[in-house]
Amino acid sequence: MICLGIESTAHTFGVGIMKDEEVLANIRDMYLPKIGGIHPREASEHHTLVAKEVIEKALNEAKLKLKDIDLIAFSAGPGLPPCLRVGAVVARYLGLKLNVPIIPVNHCIAHIEIGKLKTGATDPVTLYASGGNTQVLAFTEGRYRVFGETQDQGIGNMLDHFGRDAGLKHPGGPKIEKLAKDGKWVELPYVVKGMDMSFSGILTSASKKLKENNLEDLCYSIQETCFAMLTEVTERALAHTDKNEVLLTGGVAANKRLQEMLNIMCIERGAKFYAVPNDLSGDNGAMIAWTGILNKNKIFFDTKIDRFWRTDDVEI
Ligand code: AMP
Ligand code: MG
Repeated sequence: MICLGIESTAHTFGVGIMKDEEVLANIRDMYLPKIGGIHPREASEHHTLVAKEVIEKALNEAKLKLKDIDLIAFSAGPGLPPCLRVGAVVARYLGLKLNVPIIPVNHCIAHIEIGKLKTGATDPVTLYASGGNTQVLAFTEGRYRVFGETQDQGIGNMLDHFGRDAGLKHPGGPKIEKLAKDGKWVELPYVVKGMDMSFSGILTSASKKLKENNLEDLCYSIQETCFAMLTEVTERALAHTDKNEVLLTGGVAANKRLQEMLNIMCIERGAKFYAVPNDLSGDNGAMIAWTGILNKNKIFFDTKIDRFWRTDDVEI
């Protein structure tokens, strides 16, 4: 079974080709805003412009022709509607042209499924930490249930926003990780409410402190504070569900300090820690293709998008 997966929920237009469990190609082109954060219309224009080339590159890398594709999968949500529409239109075009099924995929579930495939985790508590999303999830009774999540922005967007306030180029996340290595502790708000988290107050506080503190110290403290919050909520979900694996996925999964904190927590609880490999952590088409293969028996020709499609609305 060969599936071509299209990712276009936000900044990335990606095309991945999976042959069963094997990644044959995973090509992406990322929209980089000139100033500020992601502008949805500009991002969608970017996706429209690069779509053909990204598909061709993916087919070349996989050494395949379009007619070899058995299945088309696309990210149907959650995401920015103008961006989602580009993926949906491309999926519909390819599906009709090739006369193959089109599978709508939930983007968040795709991050979990590619993590499970690549790490061998079987039934983990998942911390999905990316630009737009931050959720702690676990599978119970036919669904990936959300045990805790951000009440405002995703951790990645918060790091990127702080980075911009500090004059760092987008995306700020990886730059903050580097600068944090030489930092010392500065007090920031710690915001866990029940099992949910909030990052916008931490952003405001850290950005205000840019005037009187050095950047390394704020990078260190923003990481220590936010990653401790993520680890705390993940630990409580682990205790509640009695599972014994933790999977870290999403773009922020590339962060070594976040991996280290979760790993320490897992060792202390006798659980196993897994992090998705870096090349599959951020938004990508391979994870969409793989989730398409997992859903191959649900035959659709459906290209509706759902900007708010919740992970726990999907029956697995
Ligand atoms: P995604 O939305 O899943 O594609 O992930 C993109 C997000 O991951 C952006 O907000 C990046 O800043 C963030 N990110 C990527 N690498 C790192 C890193 N090493 N540390 C922290 N954040 C990162
Ligand atoms: Mg994502």
